[in-house]
Amino acid sequence: MRTSKKIITLLVISVFFLFSGSLFAQENGLTNNSKSPFSKLKSVNIGDVNWTTGFWAERFEVCKNSMVPHMMGNYLDTEVSHAFKNFEIAAGLDEGEHVGPPFHDGDFYKMLEAEIMVYAHSRDKKLEDEIDKIINVVGKAQRSDGYIHTPVSIKEKNEPDKKHEFSERLDFETYNMGHLMTTACIYYRVTGKTDLLEIARKATDFLYNFYLTASAELARNAICPSHYMGVTEMYRTTGDPKYLELVKSLIEIRSLVEEGTDQNQDRIPFKQQTKAVGHAVRANYLYAGVADVYAETGDDSLMIALEKIWQDLTQHKMYITGACGALYDGVSPNGTTYDQPSIQQVHQAYGSDYELPNITSHNESCANIGNLLWNWRMLQITGNAAYADIMETIMYNSLLAGVSLDGTGYFYTNPLCVADEISHDLRWSKHREGYISYCNCCPPNTIRTIAEIQEYFYSKSDDGIYVNFYGSNKLKTTVKNKPVEIIQETNYPWDGRIKLMVNDFPSEDNLYLRIPVWSKTSEIKINGKMAAKNSKAGEYTKLDYSWEKGDLIEINLKMKHALIEANPLVEETRNQVAVKRGPIVYCLESPDIPKKTRIFDYKIPSDIMLKPVNTNLDGSNIVALEGFLLKEKQTNWNKTLYREILNSKPESIKIKLIPYYAWDNRGKSEMTVWIPLSR
Ligand SMILES: [Zn+2]
Repeated sequence: MRTSKKIITLLVISVFFLFSGSLFAQENGLTNNSKSPFSKLKSVNIGDVNWTTGFWAERFEVCKNSMVPHMMGNYLDTEVSHAFKNFEIAAGLDEGEHVGPPFHDGDFYKMLEAEIMVYAHSRDKKLEDEIDKIINVVGKAQRSDGYIHTPVSIKEKNEPDKKHEFSERLDFETYNMGHLMTTACIYYRVTGKTDLLEIARKATDFLYNFYLTASAELARNAICPSHYMGVTEMYRTTGDPKYLELVKSLIEIRSLVEEGTDQNQDRIPFKQQTKAVGHAVRANYLYAGVADVYAETGDDSLMIALEKIWQDLTQHKMYITGACGALYDGVSPNGTTYDQPSIQQVHQAYGSDYELPNITSHNESCANIGNLLWNWRMLQITGNAAYADIMETIMYNSLLAGVSLDGTGYFYTNPLCVADEISHDLRWSKHREGYISYCNCCPPNTIRTIAEIQEYFYSKSDDGIYVNFYGSNKLKTTVKNKPVEIIQETNYPWDGRIKLMVNDFPSEDNLYLRIPVWSKTSEIKINGKMAAKNSKAGEYTKLDYSWEKGDLIEINLKMKHALIEANPLVEETRNQVAVKRGPIVYCLESPDIPKKTRIFDYKIPSDIMLKPVNTNLDGSNIVALEGFLLKEKQTNWNKTLYREILNSKPESIKIKLIPYYAWDNRGKSEMTVWIPLSR
């Protein structure tokens, strides 16, 4: 009797591991491309990289202690947001109507993802309990056939005689389900728990069955296709080939759309596209999702289109901060084409080549994050550091500008200049808000991205580790089952000196260090001996060395301010410069100039000396730059459009420039990134 009980127990355990092994045995990266055949670089596991001190440790603490509790608190508080209440109503736990935009579910999933990522690094039991309570309600809001979308589920309860699903093109059903899939995969990877993954699996199965029979017209419902990334991640997590089949077909059916639009990137089939067009969030999510499909399939026609679009973006349409989507409302391809009937209206969108206004730049935070997601996938596929350079530009500039230093206020749009007379008539606030009641898509996106930044810092390859970014952290991982432990110490991005302590690393493997594109002079030493000097900027430097425990790598990327000008075809910035130091873009903000002067009174001498100064701004450590700008004699422009130039001698005034991301933390202000140049 005892023996048979033992056998049964062993059998149960074996079956459990047999089942769970197929899920648990795999790597657990944020984007789990460990088995993606066309991805050169692979993610490290969530939890392998932990901040120690410095820039990102501080941002992560603000994320954990302020951003996540404040924003999740908003989502759970019906006085502020109805997002969670919608799930409760759809689950039958309460009664009422759906309140909020149709994409509310998706934004709530993003917030849940942020909370999960904080949990991954804090292992705070209270957070886990809150997450599990939420997942329990989400599960109850799901229909038995897997469909999950609270606006429709609530309508179905209140008006059972009508058919509601996929009846409104702008209902964002697939967007919402896509974010559910991504969040579920991450939760499973962090905890090993399968409950949210099962909900997402049912939803993905629903979409699979739906698209087996969906008409071309319904293909148009793929508004803001977060589900391309989500479905691919479901394929990577479960290994179910039908999910790869689904995401491939989701891209193919875009070609069937009749009367498509640039706004939704379906005017022409994807594989024929060469330009970044239309709604910039939708565009960048599409490009990121297509890159995921390429990583699995190696379909060159997808990569050819992606590369052309990337060239168009980076050569014609991206801001110096990495921000995307210049236009509030505009036309596509442009308003000057001879083919007038082809002109379409677009909003929150990419403009024409070189159309990069500063006061009226839209630059939705979600578009900038979409650009990060896309470039991360391109970096992993190719190992090309150019994509990491774009990511770094976004991280330190347009991403962080989206949230206040104390983690309580958020931007929807990210202009590069704010002027009192014009900016306050704009649709979106030029002061960060705690909850953007009209459309709160950006705050949870910003929070989850900050909670995930460490996952981008390293990649694995067949022959070693790629160090993509610099910041004080500890990496503990494995390469081909051999242990790796590297401790990074640096005051980056304020200082270009970085130490890597190699505590554990396979002696035959290589380390690849990224030399940022801005780095003109650099040195790399191993154990005090020069290993590389002035390595090519914008590439990885390969360190082929016989590693031993305790090896010390010292990198010195000489950091000095630079005055950057734009292509003269960017009319808005002609004869102006932006100040950059390392990856940080600086700005001139009104609290830093003498009272009764305006930011528009100042010019910057081409030979300006700028001194880095450690400064604390609203509890956050930043490096400001101090130097002398030239102030024009002040006159009143009121009711004047043109005038003869003044020939007065400008006055030299000591001012401070602060990082662009840190603007709007001292009350209402004017601000500009671009400053007229004086030679
Ligand atoms: Zn947004």
